Amino acid sequence: MSYAKVLCVGLVGVTGHLVEVEADLAPGLPTVVLSGLPDTALNEARDRVRAAVVNSGQRWPNRRITLNLLPATLPKHGSAFDLAIAAALLGGSGELPLAPLDKVAVLGELGLDGTVRPVRGVLPMVAAAARAGITRVIVPVENAAEASVVPGVHVRAVDSLHRLVGFIRDGAPLLTPPSPSPAPPRPGPDLADVAGQELGRRALEVAAAGGHHLALIGPPGAGKTMLAERMPAILPQLDDEAALEVTALHSIAGLLPPDGRLIRRPPFQAPHHTATVASLVGGGSGLARPGAVSLAHRGVLFLDETPEFQRGTLEALRQPLESGRISLNRSRGGTEYPAQVQLIAAANPCPCAKPAGDVACECPPLTRRRYLARLSGPLLDRIDVQVTLAPLRAAELMDSGRTVESSTVVAARVGRARAAAAARWADGGWRVNAEVPGPHLRRPPWRLPTRDTEALRKLLDCGVLSARGFDRVIRVAWTIADLDGRDRPEAADIDEATQLRTGSVG
Ligand SMILES: [Zn+2]
Repeated sequence: MSYAKVLCVGLVGVTGHLVEVEADLAPGLPTVVLSGLPDTALNEARDRVRAAVVNSGQRWPNRRITLNLLPATLPKHGSAFDLAIAAALLGGSGELPLAPLDKVAVLGELGLDGTVRPVRGVLPMVAAAARAGITRVIVPVENAAEASVVPGVHVRAVDSLHRLVGFIRDGAPLLTPPSPSPAPPRPGPDLADVAGQELGRRALEVAAAGGHHLALIGPPGAGKTMLAERMPAILPQLDDEAALEVTALHSIAGLLPPDGRLIRRPPFQAPHHTATVASLVGGGSGLARPGAVSLAHRGVLFLDETPEFQRGTLEALRQPLESGRISLNRSRGGTEYPAQVQLIAAANPCPCAKPAGDVACECPPLTRRRYLARLSGPLLDRIDVQVTLAPLRAAELMDSGRTVESSTVVAARVGRARAAAAARWADGGWRVNAEVPGPHLRRPPWRLPTRDTEALRKLLDCGVLSARGFDRVIRVAWTIADLDGRDRPEAADIDEATQLRTGSVG
């Protein structure tokens, strides 16, 4: 037999596609031809596979070898094809009877010594195999736990090419994945820890309920980071579909914890202001790494000291904030990753970052305005809730006498509000109030009565509020009504929504 094929999976963005690795061995000058849109890493696969085969004690066939990866039109990145290539090649040379690999997807990178190395993206690969009707997979031992997350798939693992050859030739046992760890994930920081800061807590709750982006302006020590870190705990847990998608993105980034569980809590990403564009939006050679904006998909992207980010870095967020996706333009085959995030942008009121109330800050008003103006442009246009926080006083922090609501209590309210909004906007396909276009809210039957919007229209007429700003206030008012369990916003809700824009710096 001089022909063999083995199944593998290639990733396009977060979606896996079944790939057939074909090997054909013909008489002729010993050479290896690899076809089917290989990227650089795949070309290197040729050398890795050769060394691994020889160092595993197998004979390298001295014939003209053609390796083909089908479908040819599918872009293929990364090193997960190594193991399938090696198996197909040994099958084609007649060294191995490949019947045991019939309807089995084989994933893994090979080291020169024949060890099998973990690869990124095993979870979406195995999920794709399952969708294509392949229920048995062989993966690197380090990836066995995450592969087991996919229901209905029989997972076996290998640590070396030698072990795979032993299985194919003699039926030697493969490795079994560890049983999932019973310990539930640790809860994140709780909102009950944040005493005082009423405005900040309210802004956080409203933002969570309506899916609104949030800007927190305040001096160091006002609790901006504390508040932001507690957003995931008041957002609804991820449903099955979202959990699989989020876990898949973390799998592609190679960032899954070893216990191999689905990520159920909305993720939280806080890139530093020195972050590069690539680390924020993704990129890199081979299988593109998702950036912070995709790792925060269905969760929170927190930018602390937002004005300190490079202008170009903030500009790069424009596309994902608009479309919920990020396209990474690559030389061959663009990659697109989901990036639906809830943005929390924090900023000090001025560049010196001295605590407010101290005599130390002497920044002139113009400097302060310019500093916050860096927020405008790409970001501020899309931020519905913008508040200025006062510094937290020690008395407030220490005041343990007052009852402070826990994340669980607030999360229940947020969940009810989101359900009400989702039901109301189901026809338009919007999940949260933040997604509803302004004109839709200004048309019947959703237009609010003139008497309720009178104060707001005055702000619009005298130029305090832009037309976009007007829409944002109305949107937030709907969220406040949802939180209070009312069908429609009233004048008081519009008032509060207006106050939740006092951080306006555009
Ligand atoms: Zn200052």
